[in-house]
Amino acid sequence: MIGRIYKCEICGEESESPVRWLVIHCSSTRLTVFKWSQEEADAPGARHYCGEAHAQVYISRWMESYCS
Ligand SMILES: [Zn+2]
Repeated sequence: MIGRIYKCEICGEESESPVRWLVIHCSSTRLTVFKWSQEEADAPGARHYCGEAHAQVYISRWMESYCS
C-alpha cells in the first residue's frame, strides 16, 4: 500500500496522507461513517471523503435513494 493515493468522491481532491478524511461503508440497509483509518479505507467497497461536508453530501444522496 506504499504511496496509495486516495480521492474524495465528491470533489476529486487527492491525498496520500488523508488523516482528517472520513471513510464510509454502506449497503442498501446500512451506512457507517468512520474516522480515517488505513484499515477501513482499504476495505473492499470503502468510500473516501475529504471532510465532513463531502461525507454529508453522500449521506444525503444515500438517504434520498433509500428512504424515499
Ligand atoms: Zn471533497
